[in-house]
Amino acid sequence: MTEPLLRPDWALPEAVQSAVTTCFGGVSEPPYGTLNVASHVADQPARVAENRRRVEVLAELPAPPLWLQQVHGTRVLMANPSSANEQQADAAYTRDRHCVLAIMAADCLPILLCSDDGEEIAAIHAGWQGLAGHIIDATVARFSARKISAWLGPAIGPCHYEVDEPVRSRFDSNFGFGPGKDDGHWMLDLFAVARRQLSKAGVASIAGGECCTYCDSRFYSHRRDGQTGRFAALIWRR
Ligand SMILES: [Zn+2]
Repeated sequence: MTEPLLRPDWALPEAVQSAVTTCFGGVSEPPYGTLNVASHVADQPARVAENRRRVEVLAELPAPPLWLQQVHGTRVLMANPSSANEQQADAAYTRDRHCVLAIMAADCLPILLCSDDGEEIAAIHAGWQGLAGHIIDATVARFSARKISAWLGPAIGPCHYEVDEPVRSRFDSNFGFGPGKDDGHWMLDLFAVARRQLSKAGVASIAGGECCTYCDSRFYSHRRDGQTGRFAALIWRR
């Protein structure tokens, strides 16, 4: 199984498409092998550019993706087809057609959102910092529609995501934190925390969230591999 591109399994309006890339089918070399889409991980720029071009072709995108400079913050970029690349933001929202939203990840949780009428879409980079800072609330608040669906992409699962007390203490409660292997450590379930935050924000339909990047070698995992590439979760209106 070496597909460069997977189609997320969730109920989307016909006019909206989504995709997630893997680590296969690109031109990058170790430790970025091979379909690294991130320009901030010291991979060769020409290789990243070629990988991004391949993703555009493979996913049959209507335009190049809008790549963000993700900083583990909570800014939501209101995107349109003329938005500049590499803006600092950890989520993007649009009502525009042909505006391809992209989130890069290698353990952090990418979340895709779509209104049930297909008019509004968003993509979120939800690591523990984004979740602790309520980036889900900030993004859902941009939607006019009340009925929204979400898809949780691959992220490091509670089987492998051990964190310490300073991380846990940034959250309002212990929800999503199981006992860690060592004292003062916890196994964090990003999916559970995200599902709960989405539900509280009024998102009723939530799919995905069963793929651990550390366990599944199709995806980059920073915790597993250290210096490595990033895969992308993409959503766009046709
Ligand atoms: Zn795992």
